[in-house]
Amino acid sequence: MKALKELGQNFLIDPSIASAIADAGEIIPGESVWEIGPGKGILTTQIIQRGARLMAFELDRRLEDPLKTLFGDQLNLLRADVLRVDWNELLAQEPEHIKLIANIPYQITSPLLSRLETHHTSFSRIVLMLQKEVAERLTASVGTKAYGLMTLRLQLLFEIRIALQVPREMFDPVPGVDSAVIVMSPRIDPPRLQNPAVFHQLIHHAFMHRRKTFRNNLMQMLSKLEIAALEKHSKLDLTRRGETFSEAEFIRLCDIIDALRHRP
Ligand code: SAM
Repeated sequence: MKALKELGQNFLIDPSIASAIADAGEIIPGESVWEIGPGKGILTTQIIQRGARLMAFELDRRLEDPLKTLFGDQLNLLRADVLRVDWNELLAQEPEHIKLIANIPYQITSPLLSRLETHHTSFSRIVLMLQKEVAERLTASVGTKAYGLMTLRLQLLFEIRIALQVPREMFDPVPGVDSAVIVMSPRIDPPRLQNPAVFHQLIHHAFMHRRKTFRNNLMQMLSKLEIAALEKHSKLDLTRRGETFSEAEFIRLCDIIDALRHRP
C-alpha cells in the first residue's frame, strides 16, 4: 500500500515509541480516548492494550478493513476527516473529560490546535506527536526565538511539556523533519482574562512583525493616545520586542486596555 503524502502518512515503525506515547497518556482502564489517524494501528494497539474505550478518526478508506480485522469491536472507527466532523456532537456523547492520544498528520497541526483551544475543557490530557519545531514553539519560554503567538495561545490553557524526541528514521517513509511527543494537561489555575478577545488581539499584534518593537506593532491596533495611556498606566517599556513580554505582562496590558475602553 502506497503511503499518501497528502494525508501525512509517515507510519511509526518502532513499537517501543508507540508504547512510550501510550504510557504518556496515563490511561485508566475503561476511560474514553480519541485517536486521530490510526494508520496501520501501531499506536492503536498500545492504547487498546491499556484498556481504553477508543474512538479513532481515519480518513484513508484503504485502512478501514485492515483496522477492523485487527481490532474488531475493540475500536470504534470513524472513517472521517477529523476536521470536518462535528466535535460538539461527538463530545456530547462522551463523558465530561476524555483523552486524545495521536501521531497526527502534520499538515493538520494548526487547525487541530485551534479545535483543541475551542474544546479545551473536554480534554483531561492530550498527547501528540508533532513536528519537533512545533513542539518547541508550544513549550517555549519567554524571550526565546521559539516563543510566540502559538506558545501564548496554548500555554494559556495547558501545561505543556515534551515527553520524548523522535528522530525521523523512526518513520516509514522517512519524513523531512524530526518529531517530538508533547503532553498537554489543563492548567490547574488558569489566569482569568477580563476580556479574552482583547488578549488575543494584543498577542496577535505583538508578533505580527517580529523585528518591530511591540509599540510599532501596536499602532495597528491602538491610537497614539491609547498607546501613551497604556505606557503610563502599565509602567512597561513598550519599545521592547513582543517576544520579551511574559504572559502576565500581556494580561496586565490587556486589562488596562479594557479598562481604558470602558472608562466613563
Ligand atoms: N498512527 C499511525 C502511526 O503512528 O503510524 C499513523 C500516523 S500518520 C502520521 C497519520 C494518519 O492520519 C494516516 O493514517 C492518515 O491517513 C490519517 N489522516 C490524515 N489526515 C486525516 C484527517 N484529516 N482526519 C483523520 N485522519 C487523517
